[in-house]
Amino acid sequence: MLRILPNMSAVEQPYAYRHRELVEPDWRRLPGWRDVRAAEWEDAQWQRAHCVKTVRQLHDVVGDLLTDDFYADLERDQGERATMSMLLPPQMLNTMVPSVSSPLPSAGAGYTAAFYADPVRRYMLPVFSDRRSDWPSHPHATRDSLHEHDMWVAEGLTHRYPTKVLAELLSTCPQYCGHCTRMDLVGNSTAQVTKLRLAGKPADRHSAILDYLRRNPVVRDVVVSGGDVANLPWRNLEAFLDELLAIESIRDIRLATKALMGLPQHWLQPDVVEGVTRVARTARSRGVSLAIHTHVNSAQSLTPLVARAARAMLEAGVRDVRNQGVLMRGVNSTPEALLDLCFDLLDGAMVTPYYFYMCDMIPFSEHWRVPLGEAQRLQHAIMGYLPGFATPRIVCDVPFVGKRWVHQAESYDTERGMSFWRKNYRTSIEGDDTGALSRDYVYYDPIDTLPESGQQWWREHADGQAAHEVALARAAASRDASLV
Ligand code: SF4
Repeated sequence: MLRILPNMSAVEQPYAYRHRELVEPDWRRLPGWRDVRAAEWEDAQWQRAHCVKTVRQLHDVVGDLLTDDFYADLERDQGERATMSMLLPPQMLNTMVPSVSSPLPSAGAGYTAAFYADPVRRYMLPVFSDRRSDWPSHPHATRDSLHEHDMWVAEGLTHRYPTKVLAELLSTCPQYCGHCTRMDLVGNSTAQVTKLRLAGKPADRHSAILDYLRRNPVVRDVVVSGGDVANLPWRNLEAFLDELLAIESIRDIRLATKALMGLPQHWLQPDVVEGVTRVARTARSRGVSLAIHTHVNSAQSLTPLVARAARAMLEAGVRDVRNQGVLMRGVNSTPEALLDLCFDLLDGAMVTPYYFYMCDMIPFSEHWRVPLGEAQRLQHAIMGYLPGFATPRIVCDVPFVGKRWVHQAESYDTERGMSFWRKNYRTSIEGDDTGALSRDYVYYDPIDTLPESGQQWWREHADGQAAHEVALARAAASRDASLV
């Protein structure tokens, strides 16, 4: 006899899916924008002209909702820790403490506590007290932690994988994220970091990139990035894309733009939509996949305007809009936060969840970084809820290796927070390196998350190079033992 199971909706699950309607938070709740009209808000030029770049400008918008202590904390971070300068479009600031379903906390201590705890604030407006005082930076943190600059084959063109390249067309964005992995190059210099500057003129650099791609038909896939392509005048971006599409070997083009979320007004401008439509038509006629990759880290960043921009791009003919978020403590490092974001991307904005990167090992990022073991647990926890094609992979971008799924580590020393990885291709700087494919490469967990014995080990081995060599010797020994 057939047994009928009870209705699954009554079964309690670790995660409870709920469809959520996206809502645009009312910007007029903020004192500085009380009189801003909808037409201004939806205007890309108004958004760019009213970006918050200084503590004073933040005060002009948020005023006494925040206490003076918060502004002082932010000021101190700008002076002593920040690796990125402040640049916050109104669209993004408006998604902090959105108070869509609950009343606005009262001015002063209540609002300030909510602002401190806000996930978007935590990565877009970092303050001094967010950062760790014991280990603000890992001993192995570096400015260009992925060695993209080391792998330039033309200025701004990183050739790290066999068949794909990263083309950094410019070094600016409409918004600056506190954790930016390209903090070496992107944005304005801060008190702590003097930025590298692209030396060549934009037109010359773009020509050199295209020349390299014409000479190297092994490359089929180009991530067109920066910075953020939304900061290139559209005619310049279209001219570059037209030339790229004329190269027979190019089959995939991915446009990288966080602005689809941070400044959706840019992608809704009629001349931009018309331009994307022309480029997408050419791409289709040549059998090339043109996609947009954006960067959303928190569900509350998704508003109807963001959804409109994503749909406008799909209607213009791009094959897909995909999301590459960054996994960060205090921002999205729970199964609920990741799944809420992924469902809102899919249901609300037709954006495909694709990757969550572990935050890279740049200076002053330890408070954001998640240990590998936690990333593995999160990957396990989010499996099975989303459609397979939209279940994001959590990836570790291992220096000198590249992206690896978090379960691909060869071995993992959880006491000292060292994971060991191998790879199956050579980067552009390893052409004659016979050991590149048999060597171990190390990734390090944030030290404050280690057991006390591991933290003590790091106190005794804070000299980064010595610790790195110990890590490699340990990996070699464990590998030798496993071969006996
Ligand atoms: S948008 Fe991307 S490149 Fe620009 S600051 Fe943010 S993470 Fe860096």
